Amino acid sequence: MTNYLNPLPDRYQDLLLSIVVPVFNESAMLPVFFQQVLPIVKALPLRVELIFVDDGSEDDSAEYLKRALHKHSEQKLIKLSRNFGKEAAVTAGLEHARGNAVVIMDADLQDPPEYIPVMVDTWLSGTDVVLMQRHSRVGETLLKRLSAHLFYRLLNRTSRTEIPVDTGDFRLMSRRSVNALLSLKERNRYMKGLFAWVGMPTKVIHYDRAPRAAGTTKWSFWGLLGLALEGLTSFSISPLRWAAGVGLLAAATGALFGIWIVAKTLLIGDAAAGYPSLLAIVTFLGGVQLFSIGLVGEYVGKTYMETKQRPVYLAEEIIASPSAGKTAKVQHREPVQHVKVV
Ligand code: UDP
Ligand code: MG
Repeated sequence: MTNYLNPLPDRYQDLLLSIVVPVFNESAMLPVFFQQVLPIVKALPLRVELIFVDDGSEDDSAEYLKRALHKHSEQKLIKLSRNFGKEAAVTAGLEHARGNAVVIMDADLQDPPEYIPVMVDTWLSGTDVVLMQRHSRVGETLLKRLSAHLFYRLLNRTSRTEIPVDTGDFRLMSRRSVNALLSLKERNRYMKGLFAWVGMPTKVIHYDRAPRAAGTTKWSFWGLLGLALEGLTSFSISPLRWAAGVGLLAAATGALFGIWIVAKTLLIGDAAAGYPSLLAIVTFLGGVQLFSIGLVGEYVGKTYMETKQRPVYLAEEIIASPSAGKTAKVQHREPVQHVKVV
């Protein structure tokens, strides 16, 4: 890692880094978050703004964040009007971030903050996206690990946009890649897919993902299943083709079976015993048809939701720390690659 701290301490003072943190019922975690993240943020050679998005928490996370606004000079709280989901919360944070680069991290410290300096360093040495890829999934059940593995494989089979395995939202993005991401206006914000769609020069850093320090995960089994379905159908229409393929296969098998029955009756004189085979075929075809209709419905539903053009989130309140915004104006320099560290 390049040592940028000692020789050039003031060099990046006109650069601003935004850290976006989605928060949903994290009151147990927030004090620890500040305790661990603030020293790291203060040691960075550039200015940092913290953007918390309260995603309709039912505990006192929002009140805590309001009280904590003095903890860092540039800090913002965007309080959404209800729980819109992490993807929407991240979008809200990105829209309000003014930084030359933006880091997205969870409030539960599963995204280790000690990597922020490494991410910044990697960005300054010339790349648009610093992607954090996890080595291990300590503390996650075998079932979750297995399903995650299968899901990524399936996703990359179906979609033309390569979605990197074992990455989450923990990443740093340059201003131009954030702008590119925000220009994607779809309402169904499957973030992993959107990030991948944007592309741009990317460097990968490997890290160990720790188990959640306090509180509980917000994902239920059904929530994850929904997200997986969302991922598959947002980024590819291959499932529709599979359905058509299965339909074709079933039709061809049916036709061959029919010919065989006729031939057998004519040649051997053996009249087909109908009922069981008929029942099997009808059930099978019925299943294929219902499944395909469901699949088509999924896409039709998506199109319907998109046509409503509703906003991705609604902010009820946006509060900034007293000194936020009064500091020097942010200079947007692009491309960032030219900021080289020696
Ligand atoms: N989160 C959110 N809205 C939600 C669910 C989660 O903003 O509806 C936030 C949550 O507070 C945390 C991050 O998203 O900062 C990741 O959530 P969680 O730790 O539950 O997910 P996991 O780490 O289990 O994937
Ligand atoms: Mg977590």
